[in-house]
Amino acid sequence: MDCMLAADRWNDLASRVLDGHQLTAEEGLSILQSDDDDLLDLLAATYRVRRKHFGKQVHLYFLKNAKSGLCPEDCGYCSQSIVSEAEIPRYAMLNEAKLMEGAERAVASQARTYCIVASGRGPSNREVDHIASTVTKIKDKYGLHICCCLGLLKPEQAETLKAAGVDRINHNLNTSRTFHDKVVSTHSYDDRLQTLQAVRNAGMELCSGLIVGMGETDQDLVDVAFELRTLGVHSTPVNFLHSIDGTPLERKWDLNPRYCLKTLCMFRLANPSVELRVSGGREVNLRSMQAMSLYAANSMFVSDYLTTKGQPAEDDFKMVADLGFEIVIGDHEAYQAWKATQTQSQTETCCEKGEPISCHG
Ligand code: SF4
Repeated sequence: MDCMLAADRWNDLASRVLDGHQLTAEEGLSILQSDDDDLLDLLAATYRVRRKHFGKQVHLYFLKNAKSGLCPEDCGYCSQSIVSEAEIPRYAMLNEAKLMEGAERAVASQARTYCIVASGRGPSNREVDHIASTVTKIKDKYGLHICCCLGLLKPEQAETLKAAGVDRINHNLNTSRTFHDKVVSTHSYDDRLQTLQAVRNAGMELCSGLIVGMGETDQDLVDVAFELRTLGVHSTPVNFLHSIDGTPLERKWDLNPRYCLKTLCMFRLANPSVELRVSGGREVNLRSMQAMSLYAANSMFVSDYLTTKGQPAEDDFKMVADLGFEIVIGDHEAYQAWKATQTQSQTETCCEKGEPISCHG
C-alpha cells in the first residue's frame, strides 16, 4: 500500500513539473529524505521529465586538463590546490598541439563537447589568448562544442573567448552560499557569481554545478538547485566527492548510491530542461548503480576526469547501449566532414590489408 502511495506521490509531482510547476524547497527536501524503498518509483517519475526534454539521448563530454596543479587557491576538495599534498601531475598550460590532440580524442570518444579545463584562480590574458586561438582551430577542424573552465574570468577575457567561438563556460557554484566558506577561503561565493555574470554578458552559455558529499546539508543542496534555477544555467554537472588522499577532505566518504540518485532526481525536477550531467565521482560513488543515474541525468563524462581515472570509454558506451539509450554526437558540419575523412582513410587502410573496416566492429 505504501509503495502505491509513493508511486502516486512522485508521479503527481512529475506531472505537475511537466505542467510547469516549480519545485518547492519542501518538495526538494522530501526527495532527498525519501525512503530508499521508494527509489524506483522516484526514478521512474523523474524519467518522465528527463524523457520529455531529452528523449533517450545521452551527451558525452570529454575533459582535458590543460594546466594541472600549481593553484594558489585552497578549495578543500581539490587535489590541485596549494593546500593539497596529493600526488598528481603538475604542468603549465599545454601547447596547441596537445590541446588539438585532446580534441581528436574527444571525437574518437563520441563526445559532443570538449571541455578545456585549467587549474588556477583565473587565467592570465596570455593564457586566454592562447586558449582562444586554439579553440578557433579546434572548431574549424572538428566542429566540437567547446566548454572552457578557467577559473574566475574578467569581462574582457570572457569576450575574447566568446569571439574565438567558445560556446560555454563552466564555473561551478560547488555548494550553497551558506556552506561555501567552509570549503574554500581564498575566493568568495560572490566572486563565482560575478564570473557567471561576465559569461552571460559575453553571450556564452552557462555551465554551473556542484559537488555533493562535502559535509553540506540537504538544505544546502536544495539551495544550490534553486540558485542555479535563478541563474538560468544551460548545463549542470553534479559531482559526487571523490575523496583524494592529501586533500583536506581526504577520507570523507559519506555518500551511498541511493542518495546520489535521489540528488540527481531532485536536480532534474528542480531544473527540468537543464542538461544534467552525472560527473566526477560517478564510478566510485554510484558503483553498480551508475546506469540508473541516466534515468535522471542526460549527460556524462567519458573516460577520465582531471586527476582521477574514470571507467574505460567502452564501458560507458556499453552502459548507454544496455539502457537502450543513444549517444548524440556532434552535429556541426566540420565535425561530420572530419568524421567522413577518418572513415574514408580507415577504409582505405583496411582495404590495403584486404580487410573491410566493418571487420573491426
Ligand atoms: S581554483 Fe580550481 S584548481 Fe584551484 S584549488 Fe580551486 S578547484 Fe582546484
